[in-house]
Amino acid sequence: MSQLWNTALGDCGVPLRMGEPMSRRTTFRIGGPAEYFACPETPEELRLLLDACKKDGLPYFVLGKGSNLLVGDRGIPGLTIAMERLSAVSVEGETVTAQAGASLTAVCAAARQAGLAGLEFAYGIPGQVGGGVYMNAGAYGGELRDVLVQVEFLDEAGERHVYPVERLEMGYRHSFFTGKGCVILSAVFRLQRDPEGPEAVGARMEEIYRRRREKQPLEWPSAGSTFKRPEGAYAAALIDRCGLKGFRVGGAQVSEKHAGFVINTGEATCADVLALIGEVQRIVKEKTGFVLEPEVRVTGKN
Ligand SMILES: Cc1cc2nc3c(=O)[nH]c(=O)nc-3n(C[C@H](O)[C@H](O)[C@H](O)COP(=O)(O)OP(=O)(O)OC[C@H]3O[C@@H](n4cnc5c(N)ncnc54)[C@H](O)[C@@H]3O)c2cc1C
Repeated sequence: MSQLWNTALGDCGVPLRMGEPMSRRTTFRIGGPAEYFACPETPEELRLLLDACKKDGLPYFVLGKGSNLLVGDRGIPGLTIAMERLSAVSVEGETVTAQAGASLTAVCAAARQAGLAGLEFAYGIPGQVGGGVYMNAGAYGGELRDVLVQVEFLDEAGERHVYPVERLEMGYRHSFFTGKGCVILSAVFRLQRDPEGPEAVGARMEEIYRRRREKQPLEWPSAGSTFKRPEGAYAAALIDRCGLKGFRVGGAQVSEKHAGFVINTGEATCADVLALIGEVQRIVKEKTGFVLEPEVRVTGKN
C-alpha cells in the first residue's frame, strides 16, 4: 500500500507522514524510512490508527525512543506509531503513573521531585516507559520489574487490559510483550518515600549518571549494550578479551571505551552493524565458547 486514497488509514483523521527517516528517530541514527508514520496525541487517536491498520491489513510497529533499535536500511513497511506525545506523568503518594511515551528521565525527575526512592537505577537509560517495560530495562542492580505495579495495554485485537506485574513474565531484558504486537499505554510504579528527601534521591541519580558517563561512549550514536549478558560472563569482557575493541565493519565499530557497545562512527548502515554483530558473535564463540545473543531489537527491511 503506497497510496492512502480509499484506505481506512487515510480516512482515520489522524495526521500521517510518509517516509519519515528512522535514522532521525533512533539513537543509533540508522534506519530507512517508515512507510507511514503517526504520533497519536490521545489514546483515542491510537485506537483509530490500530483499527485502520486492521481494516487495511497493514502491519504496524510501535516506536518508543528508538534507543534499543536497529532499523533496516530500507525502512519499516506499514505504519510506525511513535508514542512520544502520550507522555503524561503523575505522582500520588508513593505511586507514579506514566503514559508509555513518557521518558524514563521524566519519570525519574518526578520521583526525585517528590522525594521518592527506587528508580535511581533507571536515571540515564534513554528510553520511554513503554520501551522500558517491554525490555524490562535495568542497570546498576535494579530493573523496572522491581518497582512496577501494573501495566495497561491493548492486545493485538485492540482489547484493553490491565495486568499486574506478576502476569508480565518479566525476566532479564524480557517481558510478556516481547515479540507480540501489543501496545503498552501506561505503567504504574510503587516507590518509597526517602526520609532524607529529594536531595538524597537526586544525589544517587547523579552518581549513577556519573558512572554511566565515565564508562559508556555517550558521545557516539549507539543503542546501548549490543548483546545480552550470557550466563556466567559479561559480554563486554568477552569481546575485550578477544581483542575486538575498535573492530570495524564500514561505519560500525566496537567502542574503544566500552566493548559492549557498537557505535555508529558517522555513516554506519544497518547492514554494517549486522555484519559487525555477526563477526563479533563468531569470534567470541570461537575463542571463548560463549554464545552472544543481541539485546538490540532489529526491525524493518534490509
Ligand atoms: C546510551 C544508552 C545506554 C543504555 N543503557 C541501558 C541500560 O542501562 N539498561 C537497559 O536496560 N537499557 C539500556 N539502553 C537501551 C534502551 O535505552 C532500553 O532498552 C530502553 O528501555 C528502550 O526504550 P525505548 O523507548 O527506546 O524503546 P525502543 O527502542 O523504541 O523499542 C524497543 C522495543 O520496545 C517496543 N516498544 C516501545 N514502546 C512500546 C509501547 N508503548 N508498546 C509496545 N511496545 C513498545 C518496540 O516495538 C521495540 O520492540 C541504553 C541505550 C543507550 C543508547
